[in-house]
Amino acid sequence: MPSSTTTIRKCAVIGAGTMGSGIAAHLANAGADVLLLDIDPALAAAGVERQLKAGGFMLPEFAARIRTGSIRTDLALLSDRDWIVEAVAERLDIKRTLFADIATVRKPGCIVSSNTSTIPLADLVQEMDPAMAGCMLVTHFFNPPRQMRLLEMVAGPRTHPDAIARISSFLTIALGKTIVPCKDTPGFIANRIGCFWLAAGLGEALRLGIDIEAADAVMGKPFGLPRTGIFGLYDLIGIDLMPGLIRSLQDNLPETDAIHAYAAEPPLVSTLLERGLKGRKSGAGFYRVSKDRHTRDVICLRTGDYREQKPAPTLPADVSMLLNSDSIEGQYAWAVMSRTLAYAAALVPDIADRPDLVDEAMRLGYAWTSGPFELIDRLGGAWFAEHLASDNQPVPPLLRTASSGFYRVTDGTREVFAPPGHFTLIPQPAGVITLPGLRLTRTPVWSDKAATLWDIGEGVGLLEFHTKLNVFTGPLLDAVQTALALTPTHFRALVIANDGPVFSAGADLKAMLALSEAGNREDLREFLLDGQHVFSSIARAPFPVIGAASALAVGGGCEILLHTHRMALHAEARIGLVESQVGLLPGWAGIAQWLLRHKEAGLSPTDAATAVLRGVLKGATASCAFAARAEHLLRPSDGIVMNADRLIADARMLALATEPHRSDDTTFFLPSRDVLETTLEDLAPAITPHDRTIGNALADILSGTGHPVSASDLTDRVTRHFLDLALSEPSRDRMRQMIATGKPLRN
Ligand code: NAD
Repeated sequence: MPSSTTTIRKCAVIGAGTMGSGIAAHLANAGADVLLLDIDPALAAAGVERQLKAGGFMLPEFAARIRTGSIRTDLALLSDRDWIVEAVAERLDIKRTLFADIATVRKPGCIVSSNTSTIPLADLVQEMDPAMAGCMLVTHFFNPPRQMRLLEMVAGPRTHPDAIARISSFLTIALGKTIVPCKDTPGFIANRIGCFWLAAGLGEALRLGIDIEAADAVMGKPFGLPRTGIFGLYDLIGIDLMPGLIRSLQDNLPETDAIHAYAAEPPLVSTLLERGLKGRKSGAGFYRVSKDRHTRDVICLRTGDYREQKPAPTLPADVSMLLNSDSIEGQYAWAVMSRTLAYAAALVPDIADRPDLVDEAMRLGYAWTSGPFELIDRLGGAWFAEHLASDNQPVPPLLRTASSGFYRVTDGTREVFAPPGHFTLIPQPAGVITLPGLRLTRTPVWSDKAATLWDIGEGVGLLEFHTKLNVFTGPLLDAVQTALALTPTHFRALVIANDGPVFSAGADLKAMLALSEAGNREDLREFLLDGQHVFSSIARAPFPVIGAASALAVGGGCEILLHTHRMALHAEARIGLVESQVGLLPGWAGIAQWLLRHKEAGLSPTDAATAVLRGVLKGATASCAFAARAEHLLRPSDGIVMNADRLIADARMLALATEPHRSDDTTFFLPSRDVLETTLEDLAPAITPHDRTIGNALADILSGTGHPVSASDLTDRVTRHFLDLALSEPSRDRMRQMIATGKPLRN
C-alpha cells in the first residue's frame, strides 16, 4: 500500500494469554515476523490455537508467521527483535524480572513496551538501565486486539522521541490502531472513566431500586451508548472480573477520587458469584435466557432472584427531558450520567491533555457514539453546571470555564476547549481523512438526496452515497453519473468511499421485488441496463476512479468496486457477489469483471469459468480483504489498508499514482458447456433445486464454442438470464425472505 510503514518488522510478544496471543495474531495479520514466548512452549502454542478458533487471524495461514517458544529457553531469540511487547500477568515483580532479562539480550534501539492495564510506567522503569528506559512505553491494547481500534499509549519522561515516533507509525499504519496518548495514571483513560460509569451504574441502581431492564434501557440508546447498558456490559465483561478492576483503581487512586463512593463488590455481586453466575461466559448473570429460549429472565436487585424480563419502559425522546424527569428512569439517568460526565471533566488534564482525547478513548474503547465532552456539549455546559450545583455536586473547574462549549469549528478546522482554558486546534495526523471530518469542516462541491461530492485536496474528488444502506436506487445511479460528469472540470481523479458499517448493500431489493411481482420485465430490464451503463462509464472514465471500502460491499456494492480502476480496501472490508442468495445474478457486469481478474491471474479459461460459477453460485462474502485477494476479487495492484481512518488518504494517493485503464472490450475464451455441467454435477449433493436452476443459467453464460466472447456479449447473456430468474417464483421467494428476515432462503 502507498503509505509505507516503518523500521519495525520483527516483533516479539511475551505472555500468550488472552491479550498476548491476540496481539501476536494481529501482528501476524500485519505481516510481521512474530515470536511468541510464554513460560512453557506449550502455553505459547496453545495461545496460537486459541486465536485460530477465536478469529484473531484474518487468514488462518497467517498463523505460520508466528514462531512459539519459552521465555526460559528461548530468551536469546529476542536479540534480533525490533519491538518486544510484554503481556504477562499483571504483577509488578513478574514484569520487572522479565524486563531485566530482556535488557540482557535486546539489541540497541529495540522498543520494549508493556500491555499493563494498571501499573504505572514510572514503576516499571524505576530500576531499569537508562538505555532501555529510553525505549520503554506502555502500549495498552483492548480486547480483542484485532478488532479494537483503541490503543492507549503512555510515554515516560525518559522515553526517546524517536522510539515514540517509530512505534506510533507502526501501531497506526501497520496495525491500524488509533493511538490516544495518555498520562501515566491508573486505568489510563477509557477504563478509568468506563469503570467509574459501571460502578456508578450498579451502585445507583441498587440505591434507587430501579429494574435492571429499565436501567439498561436508560443507559443505552438515549445517550448513544451500546445497548448492553450497565448490566448487559457486566455480563459481557464477566461479573467476576469487575470487582478486581474497580478495586485496583480504588487501591491506586487517592481517597478523594469519586470512585471510592461505590463498592467494588456490593453484597449482591458476591451472592451472584457464590452461585456461579458470572455473566455470559457461565451462561447466566444479571440476565439469563430462560429455558424455552423465547424470554429472558433478569435478577431482581431487591431479592437477588430471577424473574421474567419486563418490556423496556418508554423514555422521552430528548435526553434533556429524560434527565429532568422525576420518573425513576429520569432519576437514574441523572444520578449516573451527571456523576460520570462530571468525573470525566474533573480528570482533564490529569489523565489526558485535551477533552477530545477522552472522547476518542470512550468512543473507541467503550463504543460510545459520543464521548463525555461531546455529551456535555449536547446538554449545554451551562445547564449541566447549574444542575450539578443545585444537586450539591461539585462543578469541575474545566466545566466552569468552558462557557461556550468544548468544541467549535473555525475556518474549517476543529478546535477543543482545553486546559489551562482556551480553544486549541485538534491536531489532524498526516494521512488521515475521514468522512465525519469532511462533514464537520467542509462544504460539498455538489450534493443531492442520494450522494455528495467532496473535494479531498490534491485535485481529487470523493463521492459518498447516502441512500439507506447505500443501496443503488435510480437516483443514486444518476448521482454517480453526475459525479463522473463533474470530475473532469473539478478534479484529476475520483474516489468512491462511504463510512459506516455498510459500503453498499447492492441494488434496492425491495424495488426489484416490486417490479418482479408486477411482472414488469421492461422496467427491470431498464434498471439493469442503467446500472450496466453507469458502471461501464466508471471503467471507461478517462481519469482514475478508485473504490475505497472499509465495510460490507455486496452485490452491486461489490460490482461498482470491480469497475473502478483500482481499489483500496480496509483489511476488515467484506466484499462479495451475493446475488444468488436472493435468486439473482450479478447483473451489472460483475461476472465479466470477476472473470477478467481470474484471467489476469493466469487461470486457464476452464479454471476461471469454473471458479466464477462456483463463486457466484455460493454467493459468499469474503471474510476480509486478504480473503478477497485470494479469491481474485482484488487485483495484486489493489491496496489493503489496515487503518480505516487512513483509507481515504491512501485511496487518494493511489488515485494520483494510477493511469485509467484502457477500455477496450476484453474477450474471453470459455470452456464447453460439458465442463461446467460436470462442475454442477460435483456440486449437486450440496445445492438446492433453485441453486441448480441458477447454476444452469451460469453454465449457459460461462460456456463457449471455441470462439472468443466479448465482455459485453457475456453481460448480454447475463441480462437475459437475470430477467428470467428475477421473474421466477422461487427467486421472488428468496427476495421476500431476505427482505423479511435478512436470512437467505435455501429453496
Ligand atoms: P492472561 O492471564 O490471560 O495471560 C498471561 C500469560 O502470561 C499466561 O499465559 C502466563 O502463562 C504468561 N506468563 C506469566 N508470567 C510469565 C513470564 N514471566 N514470562 C512469560 N510468560 C508469562 O493475562 P491477560 O489477560 O492476557 O493480561 C496480560 C496483560 O495485559 C496484563 O498486564 C493485563 O493487565 C493486560 N491487559 C489485559 C486485558 C484483558 O482484557 N484481559 C486488556 C488490556 C490489558
